[in-house]
Amino acid sequence: MSDNITIAVSKGRIFKDAMPLLAALDIYPTEAPETTRKLILETNRPEVKIIIVRATDVPTYVEYGAADIGIAGKDVLLEYNGNGLYEPLDLKIAQCRMVVAELKNSRNEDRGGRKRIATKYVNIARNYFASQGKQVEIIKLYGSMELAPVLGLADQIVDLVDTGNTLKANGLVEVETITDISSRLIVNKGAMKMKNDLIKPMLEKLTEVVAAK
Ligand code: AMP
Repeated sequence: MSDNITIAVSKGRIFKDAMPLLAALDIYPTEAPETTRKLILETNRPEVKIIIVRATDVPTYVEYGAADIGIAGKDVLLEYNGNGLYEPLDLKIAQCRMVVAELKNSRNEDRGGRKRIATKYVNIARNYFASQGKQVEIIKLYGSMELAPVLGLADQIVDLVDTGNTLKANGLVEVETITDISSRLIVNKGAMKMKNDLIKPMLEKLTEVVAAK
C-alpha cells in the first residue's frame, strides 16, 4: 500500500479553479497559496500534500516523480518536451483558446512572404503554421506578446485568449483559432502503478465530478 500523494499545482487561475475539484476529493489545503510563502501546502489529509510550482514546471515535477499527480494547462503540455506522462482526464477548468491575433488595421509589412510571429508558445506556433503549409519566422517572447505587433516587432502573435479583453485593449483582433485549451490531470507513470490504490479512486471521483458539470 502506498501511503502518500503529492499534487503539483500552479498558483492563480488554475489553483482557484482546482479548489472545488480538490474539495470533491475531500482535500482542503490548510493555507491558501496567496497568503503564504510556503511552497509545500499541508492538507486536511495527512497523506496528501500540494506543491505550488510555476505552471510550466508542473509536467517536469510530475514526469520525474517529485510529484505524483499534477494539474497542467494543455498549452503547457503541448509545449513540454518530456518523455511521457499519463494525461488521463480533461478537468475542463481554466478554459480558454490558443489563437493567432494581429493589429486591427494590420499593415501587413512585406517580409518576402514570411510573416513574423511573436509568441511564448514556440512549439505550438511552429506546428500550427507548418500544418497550414505556411513558412513563418517565429520570435520567442516571455510575456506581453500583445506589444509585439504594436511596435512592429512581429506581424502576428500566438497567445491564449479568454475574454478577449487583453487583445482588444491593445488594438488586436483574433484571426484564427489554433485549439481550445483547458487544464488536464497528469499522472507520473510509476505512481500510476505503485500508488494505484490512492490514485484510482481519485481519478474515478474526478471523472464523475467533471462529467456532472
Ligand atoms: P483575456 O483578456 O481574458 O482574453 O485574457 C488573456 C490573458 O490572460 C492573456 O495574457 C493570456 O495569456 C492569459 N490567459 C487567459 N486564459 C488563460 C489560461 N487558461 N491559462 C493561462 N493564461 C491565461
